[in-house]
Amino acid sequence: MSQPQSTSTPAHGGSRHPRFAYSGRRERDPVPGAPAVEVVDLTATYPGEDRVALHGLNLRVPTGSRYALVGPNGAGKSTLLKVLAGLLQPRHGTVRIYGLPVGACHHRVAYLPQRGELDWHFPMTVERLVLTGRYVHVGWFARPGAHDRAITLQVLRRLGLEEVRERQLDQISGGQQQRVLLARALAQEADLLLLDEPLNAVDAETREIVAQVLDELARQGRTVLVATHDIGRLEGSFDDALYLSEGRETVPPPGAFPGATNGSSIR
Ligand code: ADP
Ligand code: MG
Repeated sequence: MSQPQSTSTPAHGGSRHPRFAYSGRRERDPVPGAPAVEVVDLTATYPGEDRVALHGLNLRVPTGSRYALVGPNGAGKSTLLKVLAGLLQPRHGTVRIYGLPVGACHHRVAYLPQRGELDWHFPMTVERLVLTGRYVHVGWFARPGAHDRAITLQVLRRLGLEEVRERQLDQISGGQQQRVLLARALAQEADLLLLDEPLNAVDAETREIVAQVLDELARQGRTVLVATHDIGRLEGSFDDALYLSEGRETVPPPGAFPGATNGSSIR
């Protein structure tokens, strides 16, 4: 068996083509000048389903912007994030992340699933789940190092989770669970964050922390794509938005937040 790689390569440092212990995969550098996300004429269907979940979508998310995916339940927001995260293959169309095919710069992309998609009874502590955000750098069969643990602790503190870090995942509140998912995504130190409903049914404290984190990420030049069925609460936190309905791009409702009414996302 080959030896696992070093456990503490930072996301933005180290060798130009880090090699990952788990897959042996080499990551590629972003194409200079490419947007964080570029989707052209994307159609997607779930395996074994006839119904088309996404119809001919186009999307361009510039590097460093905060972009909202807005629409009611069933609109296709989660499906689009799954395609961008490489969890669902497009049926038609192209998807580029930093100018590369999905998966070619995996460690630069963090995906936060909808809270309801996880089994919160899975026996694992808060800290451990957040630490798994580091595995894209460490590899699943290597041991996280001091650097990985330090980042995990720093993120737990930032999200107000330090005190509950040794608790099991089902021993914390829904808002704390939502913060744990965000903490895991932050621990990855990714350049592009795909966040699925990070504000769904959360308490005021969590909402405030999440909003602050989105602002911090923007100041750091990260790119954030957030799916939400309720843009109202976060209006000031976005530069642009794509409105979806039944898997298609749709015109934003009258008076919707200006990121979309300037027409930049409707082609
Ligand atoms: P949203 O996140 O905007 O609520 P989704 O992306 O979850 O919407 O759903 C878009 C469409 O895809 C819906 O018609 C939904 O029923 C369907 N869908 C979502 N997840 C699955 C799945 N795992 N298998 C089959 N169909 C799915
Ligand atoms: Mg969804």
